[in-house]
Amino acid sequence: MHIEFWYPDTAMHIVNQTEVDFLVDADHWKIVKTLMDENNLNYEIIFQNLQEDIEKQLAGDKNSTDKHSYTKYNEWHKISAWIARIAKKNPKLVSRIHIGNTFENRPMYLLKVGKPSGLKKAIFMDCGIHAREWISPSFCQWFLKEATETYGKDKNMTDILDNMNFYVLPVFNIDGYIWSWTQNRLWRKNRSTISNSSCVGVDLNRNFNVAWGTIDASKKPCDETYCGSSAESEPETRAVATFIRKQLSSIKAYLTMHSYSQMILFPYGYSYEKTMNHEELNEIAKGAVEAIESLYGKKYRHGTSAATIYPSSGCSDDWTYNQGIKYSFTFELRDKGKHGFLLPESEIKPTCEEIMLAVKFIANYILNLTD
Ligand SMILES: [Zn+2]
Repeated sequence: MHIEFWYPDTAMHIVNQTEVDFLVDADHWKIVKTLMDENNLNYEIIFQNLQEDIEKQLAGDKNSTDKHSYTKYNEWHKISAWIARIAKKNPKLVSRIHIGNTFENRPMYLLKVGKPSGLKKAIFMDCGIHAREWISPSFCQWFLKEATETYGKDKNMTDILDNMNFYVLPVFNIDGYIWSWTQNRLWRKNRSTISNSSCVGVDLNRNFNVAWGTIDASKKPCDETYCGSSAESEPETRAVATFIRKQLSSIKAYLTMHSYSQMILFPYGYSYEKTMNHEELNEIAKGAVEAIESLYGKKYRHGTSAATIYPSSGCSDDWTYNQGIKYSFTFELRDKGKHGFLLPESEIKPTCEEIMLAVKFIANYILNLTD
């Protein structure tokens, strides 16, 4: 029997008195139900028929000839064309940088956003490191929309982009993202093949060179949190890490977008120890969640990854932090499990709007730092 964990990521992380979201195949659900009844576990069935909900998520239109839209989930070919187009249409504000290729040899482009001028601070932001978390790439696209549409009109956005650059990677895990559209909606890892195993894919957010392969990263290729054969074994991780290493003197903050569970997390994930600037990070995260709540009243939790969710190693925000990027945050976007990864398209706009406030809050904080 196969049980796929949605939250937490693996069975290892289940602790007493907490909620767990998981998927069980139709052939086995009666056994699972009986076991839960016998053990007096409270449960709720969220999806009676997951396939129906997967189809419903796309708001009824599967018309792949449709244009790119900021309020719909876009297939990779649309995002890829959009990346080229938005840079071409906004040459004074946006440029496209090739940072490497994926396992399946697709080019990875990031978008540099900001008014070109001498030495500037920068924020690196990536979306879509986990394939099935579709709301995450939606946010990176939304960010570009807001930046290009409000620069020169909105004073704060103009200030931010005059004085700071954003490096935005719209989809970190392109191969996995495509797989989640074409083969398995709930795919998480990348698509690299592994010698001596028939299982495919590495969890890119366990593949960074920080406490690699120690806590909660699986060495088993078939697991959802398989950390790869070595740190930075994956071309996607290597591309991002290489770019960040080259830009370390300018990158002051790192933001990485995931879903779901509504949280803003900061280092460490691999240890319960507090970072040097723990109190400061906690204050920034608190300000960011307050900004989010101010719009639609959505509550996000905040805290260190290890204490708020569970310890894990090889994660991108711990790695950037230890490279010297002292403002590193992991966002977990909507929702809290009602739809999970299948967040309806009607929630793309409000989610992006509230997260935009948090990102601007952090950007303003970085902008006002004196050093
Ligand atoms: Zn994730």
